[in-house]
Order: sequence, then structure tokens, then C-alpha cells
Amino acid sequence: MGVRKQFGKELSAFQALQFRIADMATELEAARLMVHRAARSLDAGHPDTTMHCAMAKRFATDAGFEVANQALQLHGGYGYIQEYGVERIVRDLRVHQILEGTNEVMRVIIARKQLHEGRNV
Ligand SMILES: Cc1cc2nc3c(=O)[nH]c(=O)nc-3n(C[C@H](O)[C@H](O)[C@H](O)COP(=O)(O)OP(=O)(O)OC[C@H]3O[C@@H](n4cnc5c(N)ncnc54)[C@H](O)[C@@H]3O)c2cc1C
Repeated sequence: MGVRKQFGKELSAFQALQFRIADMATELEAARLMVHRAARSLDAGHPDTTMHCAMAKRFATDAGFEVANQALQLHGGYGYIQEYGVERIVRDLRVHQILEGTNEVMRVIIARKQLHEGRNV
């Protein structure tokens, strides 16, 4: 973004793209925090470990895919071609919304806890 120029300016000078970078970084940080909390719950034998892990898996894999997809978009046409490697990251991350229990099944686990055991988030 500091190299490619459009309309006479580096891409990084466009505030809309700066905001997108800020949101991407924020989503990734939130995902990291959720994964760390799930790991702490697991280590401590917390009674909500299953729900914390389901929340972290759902959130982190959705956020990871969305952020990678945004990164591809920021690269424009180069993002889509194999030479730059971004498209591979997008493809690799997509499967994690399916693997190890789909994200719909994670929602089933979370909703069951919320609805039937009256747990507040
Ligand atoms: C590259 C790759 C590697 C894999 N490696 C392994 C492995 O090493 N070991 C292993 O055991 N498995 C492996 N799998 C299988 C993987 O775990 C399953 O694909 C995954 O759990 C989803 O199951 P399914 O494909 O049967 O989808 P299905 O259960 O048929 O689901 C299809 C769709 O329906 C949705 N759905 C299903 N039930 C519900 C529900 N109750 N409510 C709402 N939505 C629902 C799902 O979320 C999904 O979107 C792998 C899969 C892939 C793609």
C-alpha cells in the first residue's frame, strides 16, 4: 500500500483504506484474545470451556477469512494471481470455517448453552 499509487497518491494515503486496515487489525486482535481466553478456560477446567472454545473457533476462523479476503481486495488484481500468495492464504483459511466442526455447529453449541443453561456471555 505504500508502493502502489492511484489517483496520484499512494494507496496508504486514502483514509477509506486506512480505516479498513484499522478494522482488520482490530478483528484479528479480538480473535487472538478469544483464542487466548478459550485456552485459559481449557487449562483451568472452567465449566464454560466448551462454549468459550466454540466462540473462539467461530469468531477466529470467520475473522481470519474475512481479513485475508480484505487483504486480497487491497492488492487489487495482484491479490487474485498466484505470484503474490494472498489468494492461497484466502483459500487455506476458508476451510477452517468447515473443519473441526463447522461454524454452524459452533453456533449450535453456543446457543444450546445460552438457551438451555441460562449462561450469560
Ligand atoms: C480439507 C479437509 C480435511 C479434513 N480432514 C479431516 C480429518 O483429518 N479428520 C476428520 O475426521 N475429518 C476431516 N474432514 C471432515 C470435516 O471435519 C467435515 O467436512 C466437517 O466436520 C463438516 O462435516 P460434513 O462435511 O459432513 O458437513 P455436513 O455435516 O454435511 O454439513 C453440511 C452443511 O450443513 C450445516 N449443518 C449441519 N448440521 C447442522 C445443524 N444441526 N444446524 C445448522 N447447520 C448444520 C453445516 O454447517 C454445513 O454448512 C476434513 C474436511 C476437509 C474439507
